[in-house]
Amino acid sequence: MSRIEVDRERCVGSGACEALAPDVFEVDDEGLLVVHRPEPDTDELGNVQDAVQACPTGALSLAE
Ligand code: SF4
Repeated sequence: MSRIEVDRERCVGSGACEALAPDVFEVDDEGLLVVHRPEPDTDELGNVQDAVQACPTGALSLAE
């Protein structure tokens, strides 16, 4: 099971992750990232990996 890790100091609330994996990530009204599923299902993993790559500040990573 992979686990999403967020470096909150780096997150700037751009929402790129939400655009790619909206069931997993959400930027709330205050611009703070909410991770709905820190341990995403296998069928969500591709989108999550895309989101990790797309994050402009490198705030996301996946840990095993
Ligand atoms: S893509 Fe990166 S910087 Fe943008 S909201 Fe997601 S974690 Fe934060």
